[in-house]
Amino acid sequence: MKGVCNKVLKVDLSSGTCKPEKVPDKVYEYFLGGAGMAAYYMWKECPAGTTAFNPANRLTFASGPLNGAAQSGAGKWSAGAISPAFNLNSDSAATASFGIAMKQAGFDAVVCYGRADKPVYVVVDDGRAEIKDASEMWGTDAYQTEDAIHAAQGEDFEVVSIGQAGERLVRFANIQTRKKSFLGRCGLGAVMGSKNLKAVAVRGDNKFQVADPEGLKKLNKAINKRLLEMDNGKPEWLQIQKVGTAMATELFAPQGNLPIKNYSLAGWPEGVEAWHASNYYKKLKVTPWPCKHCVIQCHNKTHVKQGPYAYEGKGPEYESFAMMGFNTMCADVQAISYACELANLYSMDTISLGVIIAFAMEAYEKGLITKADTYGIDLTWGNNEGVVEFTKKIGLRADGIGYLLGEGTKLAAEALGRGATEFAVQMKGQEIAAHNWRAQYISALNYATGCAAGPNHERGNSQHIWVGHITLPEWGIDHVENDERWSWKNAGDRNAKFHDYCNVINSAGHCKFQEFRAYTLSDLTKTLNAIMGLDWTVQDLRECGERITTLQKMLNVRYGWQRGHDFQWPKRFFEPVSEGPAAGKIPIGLGDAIQEYYAVRGWDNDGVPTPELIKRLSMDEYAAGM
Ligand code: SF4
Repeated sequence: MKGVCNKVLKVDLSSGTCKPEKVPDKVYEYFLGGAGMAAYYMWKECPAGTTAFNPANRLTFASGPLNGAAQSGAGKWSAGAISPAFNLNSDSAATASFGIAMKQAGFDAVVCYGRADKPVYVVVDDGRAEIKDASEMWGTDAYQTEDAIHAAQGEDFEVVSIGQAGERLVRFANIQTRKKSFLGRCGLGAVMGSKNLKAVAVRGDNKFQVADPEGLKKLNKAINKRLLEMDNGKPEWLQIQKVGTAMATELFAPQGNLPIKNYSLAGWPEGVEAWHASNYYKKLKVTPWPCKHCVIQCHNKTHVKQGPYAYEGKGPEYESFAMMGFNTMCADVQAISYACELANLYSMDTISLGVIIAFAMEAYEKGLITKADTYGIDLTWGNNEGVVEFTKKIGLRADGIGYLLGEGTKLAAEALGRGATEFAVQMKGQEIAAHNWRAQYISALNYATGCAAGPNHERGNSQHIWVGHITLPEWGIDHVENDERWSWKNAGDRNAKFHDYCNVINSAGHCKFQEFRAYTLSDLTKTLNAIMGLDWTVQDLRECGERITTLQKMLNVRYGWQRGHDFQWPKRFFEPVSEGPAAGKIPIGLGDAIQEYYAVRGWDNDGVPTPELIKRLSMDEYAAGM
């Protein structure tokens, strides 16, 4: 198969051995790479009964066929494993250049399993792999770890690493790369920690061989030009290249899509002003910090030079400041950005962290916890310094409430009791992201049915139909009325298509943010054809998406998922707000919508793939391992 290395590296941390393994062409045709490849290795090697911290759990870092192409967004790659947050199959994606470098090192994926008997890191240098002692790095933060590896191995290595939260098994620990991009969701950093794996470093000179180099060059040029022109054509504070995803505040506030006060409020004008892109730009003085070849440039860099929150590093993404700022009602841009960067250092997902700090604030307000529990911190809404301090307590797993909150909102609420589960905004053990289901009911359906990564806004992003005005005309979603956001019309079909869409994007190795500037399914299909030598239509691409989603569902069945899990919704889903565009809107009918989604997918009433679907997708051998 062109465009890929046709082999992966298997790393057995228990025995301390590494070996290459050839991958059949059919695996790429069925699952592409990235998220699909990670799911494939789970299916192939990780038996029923495995939970997140079991050494049998497979942690797969996987590039995609697009990694290496000079196309905007072609740097996305994924990792997958059983999640510590919800003990089902999961994956998460990041950018920067780790996926590209992994292919240059000669491997499409690095599959890690077992558990080392002391802290280690893996070095993959141009086809050769070695497991090295990381004892001196243990206890350092994720960025210090990357610096130490660069000092020891060379600056040209791309590194993934964890900080203290990953080592100490915070269930929403993430994995960082290049101090700016993160495998954020699902707690994969804790899986690394459980394996005593501090980091992986990759580098090499392997060339990116594609089927149609001239065709690919032309495509890249045309696509990159179009994306850039579209972004330039936007008003100043909606240009991603200027302010990154901070442009979302202006877009989402009038829709009622923001998460405010642990998702209990409709509006917060002071917060909208503080977190508007113009103020974000002024307070953080951000400059673009793009991934290789990207013209959209959502990542940005800040340097706050003075004051208690001085730091140089990443400017927070929308999801980060929405959960850490809006959801806690904190309007000090520099303080919350600093807290987000601390979370990055310790390696924690800022979405889950923002939810759990807001949960703790509500528990404090309701008297379930007091200053005696919170290290003397007055954990009231809007306490910016409190958010900074709690980020430290959770990241370092301080004794007491800091440690408990590191278990995630579900387990923390159950441990606190006295009604705390009533305001725990989570499903299956993972916290809900920064898209408010009251603004578009399909978000509730998406959170309930995500089978790749629990409730997740980016493994099925059907909310983008309304929040970003994104459609998938080549797959039959073209015109959508605004007030359909509060109906279930075609919701099962739309949700299924967006799940499959996210799966092909995350498996091909492309960044979804390009879609905001009209990257199409045809663009992706043509690019895959030019790279891999395929002859796919957009409908073939859909079938590939269906296969990946179906494999993920089969894995979840293997690891204990049952229909009831999709029906355990946060109570807050059905608590209306009284003001704003989403006033009075709650997703009544969600249960029927889930059943419709199952039916549209070709799953039975219990949400399990039917024999007819398995036959249509030619997946009998995979179904045998369900
Ligand atoms: S849009 Fe952002 S995450 Fe995506 S490739 Fe560009 S800089 Fe990286």
